Amino acid sequence: MKRCRHTVSDSAESLLRWWDSAKRPLPWRITDDPWAILLSEVVLQQTQVVRGLVHWMNLIEAFPTPEAMAAATEDEVLQLWQGAGYYARARRLHSLTQTLDGSPLPTTSSELQQLPGIGPYTAAAVASIAHGEAIASVDGNLRRIISRIHGWSDASDREIQSAADNLLDRTRPGDWNQAMMDLGAMVCTPRNPNCGACPLSSNCRGQTSPHSFPRPKKRRQVDEYGISLLIQCGDRFFLERRPPGLLGGLWCPPIRFETPLCDSILTEFNLNNHVIHQIGDVTHVFSHRKWHLDVYILSLSSPFPHPSGRWDIPSETSATRLTERLISLLPTT
Ligand code: SF4
Repeated sequence: MKRCRHTVSDSAESLLRWWDSAKRPLPWRITDDPWAILLSEVVLQQTQVVRGLVHWMNLIEAFPTPEAMAAATEDEVLQLWQGAGYYARARRLHSLTQTLDGSPLPTTSSELQQLPGIGPYTAAAVASIAHGEAIASVDGNLRRIISRIHGWSDASDREIQSAADNLLDRTRPGDWNQAMMDLGAMVCTPRNPNCGACPLSSNCRGQTSPHSFPRPKKRRQVDEYGISLLIQCGDRFFLERRPPGLLGGLWCPPIRFETPLCDSILTEFNLNNHVIHQIGDVTHVFSHRKWHLDVYILSLSSPFPHPSGRWDIPSETSATRLTERLISLLPTT
């Protein structure tokens, strides 16, 4: 695979000069606390910065150290995570803090990768930003930029990592990684790369047709069809904890994908003598799955006890976005 012949130090210098004036002012950039940096990296995986910022601030305030998070229950962590999506990250981070058992976070990327839930990208980001380790943190943004610079349509992970490490500024590796993150978010974006404003344009092979690099991968999305039953009693709704998997551990109205749907869910809650009405449908999209839910309502005059459920006012308990969408279908009175 051919590489561009250009001066690596020129590229790094030009990138860092651009970043020094254009960088996004984010609170985890004014600290070298590895925990604050790790928390930002985990929160921002597949979550937009604007939304992730609020969650990061709430989480760092509640859990200023790994020990503080380890001492919390999983429910307490999930409660603060609600709205950030991809809840498995919260559970893995909580489990990581308990694995540490009071020890500080390791300092090198290879040691960090030994911790549960920490992959090469996160390990490299924390090690380079907090400790100055000279390693590129390769995520989707960096893969896209490197592929475009070299005009590569289908480079392997190893080729991308090697090319990125080659371009890395070894005197400011943490800044270089953050500069590439910002370049991917602000300039070399997936749909509208602004090559005219790019500090790497003088050495970029792909700028004549940036959308060709890398070749987009086809992703198969699985459709799942089911129902959700809103069981209402006054202003409270019956919520149950989702089993492991999508939205695992979060409190939502009952959602079922088995058949026969309506009869079985009523039988399950011993509510066969009640009538339910469909009030609409919701399509909820995850990264690889799409839930198509018919939404039903059942109003009760008194709540029933249930060992795995609770009665809540969702608006007062940081409801998941799916719960908010389901409840928004209710007719306003
Ligand atoms: S010149 Fe264009 S395609 Fe190349 S890195 Fe910059 S924004 Fe991306």
